Amino acid sequence: MDDCIFCRIIKKEIPSQIVYEDDEVIAIKDIHPQAPVHVLVMPKTHIPDIIGFSDADDKLQSAVNKAIIKTAQICGVADEGFRVINNCKESAGQTVLHVHFHVIGGKNLGEKII
Ligand code: 5GP
Ligand code: ZN
Repeated sequence: MDDCIFCRIIKKEIPSQIVYEDDEVIAIKDIHPQAPVHVLVMPKTHIPDIIGFSDADDKLQSAVNKAIIKTAQICGVADEGFRVINNCKESAGQTVLHVHFHVIGGKNLGEKII
């Protein structure tokens, strides 16, 4: 998708700090980090949000899950703990319509919403 900022990052048209990458998935540092570790893990395929995953994407979803775990390990938060957040659509505050998972950690994350 030409007008998707994350697709442009995936195509390397826009620079980013890549934490992890394979054929299906990329993990990049968030441009406005909310914690010492704040990485966005996303499929390279343009899917607008988590609801957009279909049964045909089972392998891709598994790859995303594995990349989330790899990201936590690479960033050194796998032992102490971290949070994974997905904002889905407008009322959850999703601002970039290419499905992505925030991996956040490296500090005490304080009060939980749930
Ligand atoms: P959302 O609000 O959709 O859950 O999260 C979008 C995230 O993308 C935000 O945390 C925002 O800081 C990040 N972001 C927006 N534009 C860019 C960009 O160009 N590069 C990077 N690395 N992160 C971005
Ligand atoms: Zn996209």
